[in-house]
Amino acid sequence: MKIVTAIKSEQGSAIALVAIGMVVMIGAAALALDAGQLFINRARLVNALDSGVLAGAQYLPDDPELALQTAQQFARLNGAVQDECDFQIGASNCSISGQADRQVTLHFARVFNRDFGQVKARAAAKVAPISSTTGIVPFGVLEDDFEFGKIVTLKAGAGKNHYPGWFGALCLTGNGANNYEKDIRNGYDGQISIGDIIPVENGNMSGPTQDGIEHRIDQCDHSPCCTVNSFQEGCSRILIVPIVKIHQINKGNSPVDVKVVGFAAFLVTEYTGSGDENTVKGAFVRYVTTGGTGGTPGDYGLYSAYLYE
Ligand SMILES: [Zn+2]
Repeated sequence: MKIVTAIKSEQGSAIALVAIGMVVMIGAAALALDAGQLFINRARLVNALDSGVLAGAQYLPDDPELALQTAQQFARLNGAVQDECDFQIGASNCSISGQADRQVTLHFARVFNRDFGQVKARAAAKVAPISSTTGIVPFGVLEDDFEFGKIVTLKAGAGKNHYPGWFGALCLTGNGANNYEKDIRNGYDGQISIGDIIPVENGNMSGPTQDGIEHRIDQCDHSPCCTVNSFQEGCSRILIVPIVKIHQINKGNSPVDVKVVGFAAFLVTEYTGSGDENTVKGAFVRYVTTGGTGGTPGDYGLYSAYLYE
């Protein structure tokens, strides 16, 4: 009799232990689900803020109002709820930051009297002049004080060149008309940095210049057509060019190569003249693209926007 009672008592202990163990395990799993909710909500908030500040930075330093509006718009498109994010413009209109906190409803932590959890996030982006980039076109524009919106000659025609034999063409991918035209059409796919020495391409190169530039102009199918006052980001008519100074000059007073001192963007406005007269002109614009920002590059209105927080 005593033995049977003892066995029954052992069974009772085991059941109690299993029951306690299950409560602990279910409780831990439930808390993990709540923790997951907090994690996901914070990740969404970070994503919304990152997208907001990066999109807003595209309009800095020129238009801080538009930068703030754009930041809100992109934050909402990327997971923020209405007015959840707060954005501010930083010093010199060169940075934008944003922060948000969100209350997350908890389902299982209620057993510990916690109905809500709070998640916070912050992001900041800045724009800085570019010191290295890819996709440049093979026109060397001599350094000058450019004025935004003004038309600048990117490649000169005969009689308008500053140096004998050199009309502004550069040798990027390699010598010859085919490489030169390819670099105008697609942009040079290698990276060029401030301080790089680039050999010049002698001669007027009128045929490949015309074909390459006409291709860039034709590829803009934006409606209305891009103008200096209103153009689409990434438009084929935006030409990224190196701003250069002459590095070596030969005995005939013709440049051998040039040194890169900065980068600028021009919206190509016209291709004029046939044969040796052909000239490419573009309007000097502020533009944000991707590229390195190391060192203290000259500011020629071409910026990179990047997250720094
Ligand atoms: Zn366009």
